[in-house]
Amino acid sequence: MRAEHAMSTDTFKAIVARKAEGGQSVALEQADESLLPAADVTVDVAWSTLNYKDGLALKGLGRILRTFPMAPGIDFAGTVRTSDSPEFKPGDQVILTGWGVGETWSGGFSARARARSEWLVKLPEGMSPRQAMAIGTAGFTAMLCVMALERHGIETGGEVLVTGAAGGVGSIAVRLLSRLGYRVVALTGRPEEAGFLTGLGASEILDRAVLQAPGKPMQSERWAGVVDTVGGTILANAIAATKAEGAVAACGLAGGTDLPTTVLPFILRGVCLLGVNSVDAPMARRQDAWARLARELTPADLDGLTQEVALEDVLGLADDILAGKVRGRTVVRI
Ligand code: NDP
Repeated sequence: MRAEHAMSTDTFKAIVARKAEGGQSVALEQADESLLPAADVTVDVAWSTLNYKDGLALKGLGRILRTFPMAPGIDFAGTVRTSDSPEFKPGDQVILTGWGVGETWSGGFSARARARSEWLVKLPEGMSPRQAMAIGTAGFTAMLCVMALERHGIETGGEVLVTGAAGGVGSIAVRLLSRLGYRVVALTGRPEEAGFLTGLGASEILDRAVLQAPGKPMQSERWAGVVDTVGGTILANAIAATKAEGAVAACGLAGGTDLPTTVLPFILRGVCLLGVNSVDAPMARRQDAWARLARELTPADLDGLTQEVALEDVLGLADDILAGKVRGRTVVRI
């Protein structure tokens, strides 16, 4: 009896998505453990973030949410509450990004989450859970893009184009690349964010309109490398102007899922298109990326590109992030 009583009062706040007529409903609720799938580690979530994919999930777009009821939120940082895994003990601070959490598995817009131990990364030394989520999936993906360009041998000194530069992935990519010594050209549809972007280390701001119209499949060679977060014609134009043996790390679709290009830059210039998928990134690469993020980004870097909101504010921000109106990163205080 006592145990049942304890269960029934053991509730926590969460944004819960439920199946509803014609789609889904999302609302802030007092949830209980029935929301959480079975797994070996339970986490008290302190911080989550708002990513583009969360915007799609909250609005019921792009078939992001696949099981109901569940809490959206594709990433979180917090403290282990209980663990059946020898790898983690109560009190450990952990980060989770990807693995389908916030898509097919209840996620980070919830004060409590449960995850498989093999999905969790220990918080790097010197990084707070809030800083981890100021980075979040977007910053982690930016680092994976940078590492992909590095693996390809793109040397510092060359010009690197970052598209969707004022967004989450873009802004952290600008900061990382400039810190590493690349000359960063930031493509943005928001000229009013020029000061923000030069503050992050961009050497030049390019108006999105310049790359938005369909162009020739081979253009004057300019980019040693590209980090693309938008896809579509912009990605095609970026590929067309990439230097011989250069590389384009493609991770996003904020401008579209199509890619209207030809094989010419690939077969005549040896340009490489490097796909970046943060969701299923192997653990060794995750740990490497988080260690690099801890080294390359200062607390001041993160403060400069982060806004903080409360869990209850998230629902109202989904439209903004999908409309490209959110600057930098948004951390969500749980
Ligand atoms: P944000 O919304 O924060 O940033 C996207 C940016 O893209 C906007 O800020 C805007 O930048 C630009 N943009 C928006 N709409 C358009 C448009 N129609 N045409 C051209 N540019 C546009 O999102 P995130 O940074 O969180 O994510 C960026 C992309 O990366 C998303 O598509 C997301 O799904 C993807 N992603 C992929 C991951 C992976 O594992 N592959 C992981 C994380 C994100 P500006 O105003 O400067 O032009």
